[in-house]
This record gives sequence, C-alpha cells and structure tokens, in this order.
Amino acid sequence: VAKRLEKFKTTIFTQMSTLAIKHGAINLGQGFPNFDGPDFVKEAAIQAIKDGKNQYARGHGVPELNSAIAARFHKDTGLVVDPEKEVTVTSGCTEAIAATMLGLINPGDEVIVFAPFYDSYEATLSMAGAKVKGITLRPPDFSVPLEELKAAVTNKTRAILMNTPHNPTGKMFTREELETIASLCIENDLLVLSDEVYDKLAFEMDHISIASLPGMFERTVTLNSLGKTFSLTGWKIGWAIAPPHLTWGIRQAHSYLTFATSTPAQWAAVAALKAPDSYFKELKRDYNTKKEILVKGLKEVGFKVFPSSGTYFVVVDHTPFGLENDVAFCEYLIEEVGVVAIPTSVFYLNPEEGKNLVRFTFCKDEDTLRGAVERMKQKL
Ligand code: GLN
Repeated sequence: VAKRLEKFKTTIFTQMSTLAIKHGAINLGQGFPNFDGPDFVKEAAIQAIKDGKNQYARGHGVPELNSAIAARFHKDTGLVVDPEKEVTVTSGCTEAIAATMLGLINPGDEVIVFAPFYDSYEATLSMAGAKVKGITLRPPDFSVPLEELKAAVTNKTRAILMNTPHNPTGKMFTREELETIASLCIENDLLVLSDEVYDKLAFEMDHISIASLPGMFERTVTLNSLGKTFSLTGWKIGWAIAPPHLTWGIRQAHSYLTFATSTPAQWAAVAALKAPDSYFKELKRDYNTKKEILVKGLKEVGFKVFPSSGTYFVVVDHTPFGLENDVAFCEYLIEEVGVVAIPTSVFYLNPEEGKNLVRFTFCKDEDTLRGAVERMKQKL
C-alpha cells in the first residue's frame, strides 16, 4: 500500500459489520437504516432505468438534479445558488469530501478538524498531502473550545473541516460557535468545508449552514447527500455546493475520480428532493421516537449517555462496566452480549481520548432497538 495510506486500517464500519454478521449480533454500529427509503423514490429509479436513462450522466450532474439541489438549498438556507456553476453531484458525500480535498488542498496545507471525526476525513486529507490538526470536542456537551481553535490557526492553515450535526457525538454547532468560526475564517482567509449530511436529523435545535452567515458563502463548501435523509445509503448520491472559483477545483478532482455518478439514481434523487415538507417532518418524528427508545434503554442499562441533538447516533461512556477501553468493550459487547457498537478511539488523532466512549446508532426499526436494549439489560 502507498505510504499515504499506510497508517489506515480496514474501516471500523466494515470491521464491525463483519463481526456483527459473524456473531449474529444486533448491529447498532454502522449507520445504515434497516428499513428502506420511500416508494416514490424507488419507483422513480425504476422508471429512469426503464426510460433508458442509463448512459453516463453529465460530469457535474444531471441538470435537473443540480437544479433540485439548488432549490432545496434555497429552501433550507435562503441562499440562491447557480445550479450550473455552484453545484456538483458526486458519488456520495464521501466522494464530495475526497474531491474537495484533492481539488482545493495543496500538499503541506494545514487543515483543522474537530475530533472525534468521521474516519474518511483523515484518510482523504492524507491522500491530498495535507497536514491534519485536531481540535478535540470534549464531553459532556462536545462544545468547540474556541480559544484552542483560534490558537491552532497558523499561516499555513488553509481550511477548517467541520460537520454539523456531528458524527459520532450528535453535537450541533451553535450559532455562536459558527459565528466565531466564520470570523476566524474571514480574518485569516480560510476555507470552511462543512459536512451537513445529517441536516434533516436535527432534533434539539435548528440546523444552521455556515455558508449562510455573512461573508461565508464565498469561502465555504457545503457537502451533503441523499443517503441519510431518504434512507438510501447504498445509492451514493452526494453533492458539493460552493462558489464558482471553488467549484472548479472540486469538479476537476471529481472528473478524474469518478467522472460522473449513477444516472438513474440521479433521476430518482430529483424526485426525492421534491418531496413535500411532510416527508421531512415525518422522518424527524420517526427518528425522534427511535432516539427516545434507545436513549431511555441505554440509561436503564447503566450507561452514562451524552445528549445527542442531531444525527442518528448517540455516544455513551461505557466505563461503568469495567472494561479497559472502547475497543475491549465493543468486543465484549459483540461476543458476550450480541450487540454491535462503534468504538470511538478511531475517530481521534490520539486514540486515548476516545477510550471511554462508544457510539450507538438508532437508525433501526423499533423492535431491533428494543431487542438490543433487552440483550444489554440481561447480559451486561
Ligand atoms: N457514515 C456511516 C457511519 O458513520 C458509515 C459509512 C461507512 O460505512 N463508511 O456509521
């Protein structure tokens, strides 16, 4: 393997889902729903295939999808973006992240990330040759240590990579935090790369896109996808919204990574993004119920549960059960209890910082969530 990827192992999600299957354990690890997205979207995909929409799509997206993404973004943020010059469709948000790093970050540039962070960030930054600087969000509320953040900026800093609602903690960036990040970026001429794939799963406060703050659109790449919002994580439709001078770099990388994204899935995504407001309300209501079931259950089991404001994840402190670290706890949980969770130490530059924390997902049907809680109550 090339040096730039030497330090990375099999992703934790792959590892844990493989173990889940091997041990017949209930999988509250990898974040994928065990229920399907809405019929009207699935039917739109079938129709697109039947209608012969099966050859390469335009590189930066089927025009109707670029427009639907721009319209959705306008509805969500009030920002008017040009679908032709400011929206790029990618194969999932993970590709959008990679294309953003490879298209906009130079070797040696410093990029600030908030730990714990989604695992692909560090790997794609490494592919781009960037230097990763971590700022740790600490329990119980995982708020941004603003002074530490300010002190981390140097004349080599090129960008701040953020994620709200935040995987794995469920933290949502507050307006005050976003304003501080924004002024820091304006003062130091930094970019913000903002992963907002859980924006429709915001329970305790309204989601704010940092691009909508004054002076920020011109320096922000907003990254999103279809997977979480429409329970279709396997479709891999994502996008990047950015001003033309940044979009150019992203599109250059995207052109040579994947060139274009699945055509019928893009047509179905057009139908999805036109869903009525009631769809989004119902999604949130359903997830809120699931969250309550899991959070209440985890508390009854005896975990210290940290509040999750958004995403379909919740982080707990496993130390009441006496295992030495998060990995040991998750192994015990799979082998002896039959439940899968994700150890969080892999999401830190210094794994020690995550050793007390594990992540559970509640993107599963209610019986599955109750079944997992029951197993833990009996065997933990
Ligand atoms: N985003 C999902 C999670 O955090 C997993 C995606 C993946 O398996 N790479 O669980």
